[in-house]
Amino acid sequence: MFARLATGPACQLPFAMPWQAASRTDTGRVRPQNEDTLLVRPDLGLYAVADGMGGHAAGEVASAIAAETVELQVEAAAQRGEAPHDAAARAVRAANNAIRFEADRDPEKEGMGTTATVLVTVGDDRCRIAHVGDSRAYLLRDGDLHQLTVDHTWVQEQVEKGLLHPDDVRRHPFSSVLTRVLGTEHDVAVDVIDHDARPGDVFLLCSDGLTAVLEDAAIRVVLSRDDPLEERADALVHAALEGGGPDNVTVVLVARLD
Ligand code: CA
Repeated sequence: MFARLATGPACQLPFAMPWQAASRTDTGRVRPQNEDTLLVRPDLGLYAVADGMGGHAAGEVASAIAAETVELQVEAAAQRGEAPHDAAARAVRAANNAIRFEADRDPEKEGMGTTATVLVTVGDDRCRIAHVGDSRAYLLRDGDLHQLTVDHTWVQEQVEKGLLHPDDVRRHPFSSVLTRVLGTEHDVAVDVIDHDARPGDVFLLCSDGLTAVLEDAAIRVVLSRDDPLEERADALVHAALEGGGPDNVTVVLVARLD
């Protein structure tokens, strides 16, 4: 399911619900393959972006395992009558175990890892985000863009310690050094963010192939357009490509309809 969605056209809800989604992923202009995986399951209210890393194509394996594991775990929880969002963090931890299991089985995949930023809608007025790594969740509300997740990166830690100015993060030589990912440690701490949702809100999940190229102000301008959601997803990816497309770029937009 995730593999088809990772390369397919924008996904739109097939039935009337207060949520609508659109997604795009692109290899970019430099990398030979796309190691990002996206997950869109409107029937579960489940959306995710995973950005894999590791040699011998292991990065795309890690991100695919993450998306598949999260999907299966949340689906199984829903089938047991559990609220899908209650399974979100547990599903991300299960993905960590699944990646480690595969890396232990195949030495060529040793050291592979992935980010995971998972959003699960809760009814029509809330959502839960489970997050590890430097993919991000944003919220566009009333024309303002808010970053909801904190990057698990060395530079972000320096910012929080007051040792680095936020404006210097983007160009720092260690900007891509991660402090937390799935697949490299036995246990992983998963950030859980609960947020309300109002009509008109647009949530954005994205890999760093978007945010390394586009400043938040540029993302805000595109997301604020009065265009269909699919066109805004296209425009975000297009802008990253226009900016050089140095990395794989993936966006998932989840809008709370008016
Ligand atoms: Ca990336």
